Amino acid sequence: MPELPEVETTRRGIEPHILERRISRLTVRDGRLRWPVTPDMPAQLQDQKILGTQRRSKYLLIQLERGVLIIHLGMSGSLRVLLDDPTPGKHDHLDLELDNGVRLRYNDPRRFGAWLYTEAPLEAHELIAHLGPEPLSDDFDADYLFALSRKRKTKIKTFIMDARVVVGVGNIYANEALFMAGIYPHKATGRISKAECERLVSTIKQVLALAINQGGTTLRDFVGGDGKPGYFAQSLNVYGRAGLPCKRCETVIKEMRTSNRGTFYCPSCQPR
Ligand code: ZN
Repeated sequence: MPELPEVETTRRGIEPHILERRISRLTVRDGRLRWPVTPDMPAQLQDQKILGTQRRSKYLLIQLERGVLIIHLGMSGSLRVLLDDPTPGKHDHLDLELDNGVRLRYNDPRRFGAWLYTEAPLEAHELIAHLGPEPLSDDFDADYLFALSRKRKTKIKTFIMDARVVVGVGNIYANEALFMAGIYPHKATGRISKAECERLVSTIKQVLALAINQGGTTLRDFVGGDGKPGYFAQSLNVYGRAGLPCKRCETVIKEMRTSNRGTFYCPSCQPR
């Protein structure tokens, strides 16, 4: 599943090919995504110039002259930059064709992704308005996390995976960040100390920045016919390593469930 680093890598990969170009046509072969692509979207996008790209949480935002195209990759979506027009495959649902002949082709086998267009202020959009800060922004710091965590009884892992607290901390990243910070994943959020908040904010930023940097090496995959942009696997310290020795202390890694998600931890490095 594309996580924040894959979306950021996608944004960086496609931007140079689409910036300042004008949309000549949106072709919708199958608009049955998470929400149906609206019938008027091709007319709305046509002839608009692409002014920039941004990312908010896992939403890829394509800034146009009159509005914003919001793309979410869902469970299995990907974008490719095509310099010609190869025969679309079964799951190539949309093509955004530009005036330089480049096309941005959207593939999504499971169709949980989304293409939405709005001309209203983005901050007020129902998908965006309630999101917490970006993990790599200065707004996400220890003071913020500490203040928000007071009197919360929820498990710290659940807390940092809540998009209203901070966006983009998926299951793997939560596991890795808690391990690196030395925090037991089921510790009550309200019992996290200020020093632990500082460590946790720092490790969350580290794991996400590392994944984005690793994604940078796959940028070439965004251009071309066959290759799908790889959802990259980074080297993991704790996730998926139940029964194996901790890389730091050699204690056997344990697994438990948190809100039905796999949680991996070292009983020595992350004491209760
Ligand atoms: Zn350990």
